[in-house]
Amino acid sequence: MDIFDKCTKIIPESNADYAIKLKEMGYYPYFHVVSSKQGAVVVMEGKETIMIGSNNYLGLTSHEEVCKVSIDAVKKYGTGVSGSRALNGTLDLHVEFEKEIAEFLGKQSALSFSTGFQSNLAIISAICGRHDYIVMDKENHASIYDACRLSYAKLLRYEHNDMSDLEKQLKSIPKDCGILIVTDGVFSMSGDICKLPEIVDLAKKYGSRVMIDDAHGFGVLGKTGKGTADYFNLTKETDIIMGTFSKSLASMGGFVAADAIVCDHIRYNSRPFIFSAAIPPSNIAAAAAALKVLKEEPQRVARLNKISDYFRAGLKKRKIKFIDTKTPIIPIYTNEIIRTMAICTELFKRGVYVNSVVPPAAPQGECLIRISLTSEHTEAVAEKALDIIDVVLKEIKV
Ligand code: PMP
Repeated sequence: MDIFDKCTKIIPESNADYAIKLKEMGYYPYFHVVSSKQGAVVVMEGKETIMIGSNNYLGLTSHEEVCKVSIDAVKKYGTGVSGSRALNGTLDLHVEFEKEIAEFLGKQSALSFSTGFQSNLAIISAICGRHDYIVMDKENHASIYDACRLSYAKLLRYEHNDMSDLEKQLKSIPKDCGILIVTDGVFSMSGDICKLPEIVDLAKKYGSRVMIDDAHGFGVLGKTGKGTADYFNLTKETDIIMGTFSKSLASMGGFVAADAIVCDHIRYNSRPFIFSAAIPPSNIAAAAAALKVLKEEPQRVARLNKISDYFRAGLKKRKIKFIDTKTPIIPIYTNEIIRTMAICTELFKRGVYVNSVVPPAAPQGECLIRISLTSEHTEAVAEKALDIIDVVLKEIKV
């Protein structure tokens, strides 16, 4: 058998099979080409499109000062570091950012990684081993699933935000095993917030540590954007906070913030950290500049919440069924794959981009349109998008 057989033989119901069928039907809302900066409105496939499917929550990817600091970093340090943090790759920029983010979040220490995905791989595979248990929410991000595999720890999953199921899983673990409960702070697709107070209580009861992936909570939750732990006033009780630069911090990379001993353990033991080149100067500088803006302009967080509430009110006014979240992520369930694709394709044709969420990003039969707002969206742009969504949802009958 040729190992490439799987590349040529299309397996029925596989992603490739769906991609071919959907393209034939004219419904394929993926890989659109953007030729502008990210923002409330972008140029996509050559035409102006309202962007309500991005994670640029604080609108900082096009912020003048953030861009300037990033360009200046290239001028000073060049385009890459050509090596691991442990060897030639540690810049003063990395060290300063790690100090800043730890202080901002109220943790002793922090460490940065090249992507958010890699952060989860690096943190979880260093902290958890063969004899440990990871207990996690079923709706956690794919990178957490892959991190668990990499760690060789035993994985137990609980139903989404179901605290009695979490307790059931914890009860089943033999005494004296190391346990890490891992949850998204804000769930990337459903926009739900995790039940951190209950999780922390259960962790105490069963001798577990708690880690949150705050990719979508950082810059979004809490008055100053410190994220989910701060929102619940549980920073101390949340042992590990992970975050990404690719959302509110307008860059690419990720971090862990925790006690110094935990960060040092990751520093000295994590293979994805040790054996991978450090974040390039432009990216770490942009994240640091975005963090500075967030600290100086917490009103961006309030604005993000205001426009998200405005959008929800607009959906209610138009009697569109949606999940009433408290975050900038607003899901509209479309359930079936073809229907979801048809709606997203039609929205795009009329100038609105949303995320089409289908398996493997959502369970079968639970497909959705994921709308996400940024602090840069105006009420006028929101109204325009709402009107188009209203018309398309009524028109599409598949
Ligand atoms: N965690 C969560 C919850 C995410 O949503 C994502 C990406 N969307 C990641 C981790 C990975 O982050 P990155 O894209 O920055 O690698």
